[in-house]
Amino acid sequence: MYEGPVQALIDELGRLPGVGPKSAQRLAFHLLGVERTDAERLAGAILAAARDVHFCRRCFNVAAAEECRICRDAKRDEAVLCVVAEPRDVQAIEKTGEFRGRYHVLGGLIVPIDGITPDKLHIAELIRRLGEEPVTEVVIALNPTVDGETTASYLRRQLADLDVSVTRIASGLPVGGDLEYADQITLGRAFAGRTSM
Ligand code: ZN
Repeated sequence: MYEGPVQALIDELGRLPGVGPKSAQRLAFHLLGVERTDAERLAGAILAAARDVHFCRRCFNVAAAEECRICRDAKRDEAVLCVVAEPRDVQAIEKTGEFRGRYHVLGGLIVPIDGITPDKLHIAELIRRLGEEPVTEVVIALNPTVDGETTASYLRRQLADLDVSVTRIASGLPVGGDLEYADQITLGRAFAGRTSM
């Protein structure tokens, strides 16, 4: 244990995902060594993000206004809706340049043992959107993991009675993999080769 503020900084950094105790300590001592203006800029960016970032009221992507840039873009194809787990998946898919439709961000995956049941995700909002927007195809783009599969089958059952075709991005993504880390070419191909569910 270090004294006061140093330990507090290590503890806070250690709560970040993927940061273990050793990394937290290394980052903390790095930050203690930076210029005060750099430290203030970092702290300011964290505060501004916590205070000013909203989630799009339509698709739940991160947004700087009531609706995100993609929902406000009239050139996007409103007939195709891509369902993803997290805003970072939107970024990964946008980078491929293969998709011109809009998105719906669930806010996670169904993980019953962690208490993440379907009502904790933006699934009801998805169903509502399908009733209000001229969507003809829903593309499910969830990670090829157990939780991703559970969530995809749940969605398929929920969407079965609606007048939309449900497709899934092709595999070729490594099983157990993460969309965010798939290279752009693999993810782009997965989009081009989506299949009916
Ligand atoms: Zn949006």
